[in-house]
Amino acid sequence: MSTPTIEKTPGEAAEALRTIPHVVAGEKLAPEGRRGRVFNPATGAQTAEVAFATADFVHAAAQKAKAAQPTWRETGLAKRQAVLFKVREIISSRADEIARIITSEHGKTVADAMGEVARGLENVEFCTGLMHHLKGEYSEQVATGIDVHQVRQPLGVVACITPFNFPAMVPLWMVTTAIAAGNAVILKPSERDPSAAVWLADVFREAGLPEGIFNVVHGDKEAVDAILDDPIIRAVSFVGSTPIAKYIYTRAAANGKRVQALGGAKNHMIVMPDADLDAAADAAVSAAYGSAGERCMAVSVVVAVGDVADGLISKVSDRIGGLVIGDGLDPRSEMGPLITREAQERVAGFVESAAGEGAKVVVDGRTHEFEGDGFFIGASLVDDVKPGMRVYDEEIFGPVLSVVRVASYDEAVDLINSNRYANGTAVFTRDGKTARQFEFDIEVGMVGINVPIPVPVGAFSFGGWKDSLFGDTHMYGPEAFNFYTRRKVVTTRWPEPSESQISLGFPTH
Ligand code: NAD
Repeated sequence: MSTPTIEKTPGEAAEALRTIPHVVAGEKLAPEGRRGRVFNPATGAQTAEVAFATADFVHAAAQKAKAAQPTWRETGLAKRQAVLFKVREIISSRADEIARIITSEHGKTVADAMGEVARGLENVEFCTGLMHHLKGEYSEQVATGIDVHQVRQPLGVVACITPFNFPAMVPLWMVTTAIAAGNAVILKPSERDPSAAVWLADVFREAGLPEGIFNVVHGDKEAVDAILDDPIIRAVSFVGSTPIAKYIYTRAAANGKRVQALGGAKNHMIVMPDADLDAAADAAVSAAYGSAGERCMAVSVVVAVGDVADGLISKVSDRIGGLVIGDGLDPRSEMGPLITREAQERVAGFVESAAGEGAKVVVDGRTHEFEGDGFFIGASLVDDVKPGMRVYDEEIFGPVLSVVRVASYDEAVDLINSNRYANGTAVFTRDGKTARQFEFDIEVGMVGINVPIPVPVGAFSFGGWKDSLFGDTHMYGPEAFNFYTRRKVVTTRWPEPSESQISLGFPTH
């Protein structure tokens, strides 16, 4: 790296602003160049700026990572495991600290941020079992005197590109597994809330990870494109919106990289006529408005089957009335602001368009009054929503819950299976046969039976279908160890020299 110091932002007004640096081979760097603006969404004030990497900077970081990786690859598995145990210990003991960093840049409540950290730690815990996850296979005597074994080896340098909505959990999903498998990583976090990534890199270093194995490079399209084109980087893990996921998948694959790109979502929750309506209403409100709807597994559509709609809508409306919306740092808040002013305006636009397209706005979050300039909007509930309306067709990524009324289970399943997104879904019912049929019929990657946000535990892998995932490998869990390793198969024979002979035929048993 050419500039080994962190530069202050030039100009008087910006004097107090922190510059969030890159982390490359253990050094915090912020060479002069483009900057992004980082806000506290609860106040609307800019709190920091973040250094944006050029293509040259990304390439220099990749070279540093490449230089560091062989030593890490040679590091024994027990030592790698010890580093991860230490990472777990540090994050657990300082979870409140990282949660507050997340809240101050993302806006979600501290309790929600603590939940994010806990779910990220789940993957650290899974990865501490790397001795087991990296085990090879062995077959003795596949032919006379011939044995075959398979080993898993790291890819080298891999890149992780992450979204704003889980600034700690998604990096922990990707980075931890990649490192456990012996790779060096370049993490390109969201430029909206980049501090958590720097904090995580510091923790891994404190835990004993050698420098150059966990690098953080900030930026926007310029930095991402440089990652996608850099020949040193062998694989790309991405989580973000569908158009960008598709772009990442296409460009990285065209450059010969291994790629997994998780995209957006429109998650439906079916409520059957036999469901417990209070439990369904609690679940719908929690899953639709938690984190202000900025979760890829948020429920954004309730599919009300038969005659449940009126009762359910009344119960959901009552619950919305009781929600406490405010600064995520205030322990009384249950829901915080959106990530940016643009997101706030965009979400308001969806509620506006719903009314214009014939849907019924039952609760209008735009009328919720807030003090100050934070990026807040209240929770909205929209009834009589139908495919073809913007509010149904597009991912809103905000606190707007749509209700689609259908006559039957079959109609509900057809609706979901016709959607381009297929990340998560849920059914609320008391009937086991319906639940089992739903599991069988539904074309979605993650399914909840009376569970509204079915994010799999760490021992399983996470991923949707259709436009919610490009590639064939899910995140974290066992599939991630497949993604971050390549298998090598070795066929062995120890013949007596006297047995040697020439044979031009294709080897058979
Ligand atoms: P985003 O697609 O805007 O950004 C994701 C990453 O891509 C960021 O690091 C960003 O810097 C980069 N990026 C943005 N525009 C780019 C461009 N034109 N070229 C190259 N790189 C670009 O997503 P976001 O707004 O940060 O996150 C929200 C989205 O992520 C939602 O759509 C949500 O559903 C999705 N998401 C999906 C999952 C999942 O598991 N499927 C999980 C979390 C979030």
